Amino acid sequence: MGQLQKILIPLLGLVLAFWFYSARDTFKPEMLRGKRVIVTGASTGIGEQIAYHLARMGSHILITARTEAKLQNVVQRCLELGAASARFVSGTMEDTAFAQHVVREAQTSLGGLDMLILNHVGASYFGFFDGDVEHVRKLLEVNFLSYVAMTTSALPMLKESEGSIVVVSSMAGKVGFPFTVPYSATKFALDGFFSSLRQEFTIQSINVSITLCILGFIDTERAVRAAAEVLRERPAPRDECALEILKGAALRRRELYYRYGSTRLPLLLRDCAAELLDYLVRSRYRLPAPPGA
Ligand code: NAP
Repeated sequence: MGQLQKILIPLLGLVLAFWFYSARDTFKPEMLRGKRVIVTGASTGIGEQIAYHLARMGSHILITARTEAKLQNVVQRCLELGAASARFVSGTMEDTAFAQHVVREAQTSLGGLDMLILNHVGASYFGFFDGDVEHVRKLLEVNFLSYVAMTTSALPMLKESEGSIVVVSSMAGKVGFPFTVPYSATKFALDGFFSSLRQEFTIQSINVSITLCILGFIDTERAVRAAAEVLRERPAPRDECALEILKGAALRRRELYYRYGSTRLPLLLRDCAAELLDYLVRSRYRLPAPPGA
């Protein structure tokens, strides 16, 4: 009996701990009902799917990208799906003033902000680094500086609502990837900025969560067009990816990995077997035979 107690009591403790933590972590769509959310890069791809999920959950949505006709269609669909409200602002994130303008629009039309989802990404090439420094600078403006500018402008509203910042990044922002050197650089920059900012929020007791989303290969048109031929893996579905991003954001997670198996697990090797991880990354590609081989 004594032996049985020795086993049963710790086991019960484990079950209770598991129940407590999983209950605390349960996502419910109602968490996002009535929330005021900005989604950038929502004319297509993952951002578009995030907007549709938010619409089904009854959020107030403000979307942005460059292509007005696509944004109009997404807004229309959001209203059909049940969004509390949906509107768009079109323009380019190459211009920091535009990034700030989008945030002001949220203040005017939504009266505040609960969640800022930074998702847009500028066009880059897929291939060996071509030495074009100007391209790197421009990509940093779109993929990084505009994220910083929007966060800075939105912070007073987010502090007031004790809201959330969601940063859509990539495996290429955690480990070196070939053929996307400028893109990877912008994603690493996001990790540095937002992970440091999170530390400062904690020190200053600012209750604004920052969720960094580390994504693998997702089946958006742009990504499939660029990489499907050379990548050995199958892309994951963008609608499921979008939902996982929203779950991570609503639960105020510090990082979100999708799909977990192909992102979080390989990254566990980073500190203990970095070269093995590099090798595994390279082995994802169908590489051309070296000259003379
Ligand atoms: P996508 O389909 O190419 O969509 C990009 C969005 O950004 C579009 O709405 C585009 O709309 C907008 N955009 C592009 N340039 C812009 C500019 N200069 N100013 C303002 N908006 C601009 O991209 P995605 O594949 O959904 O990727 C979404 C996010 O997930 C990105 O941050 C990406 O890095 C990340 N991610 C994707 C994958 C993947 O395999 N798909 C993997 C890892 C990480 P307009 O052209 O109308 O402006």
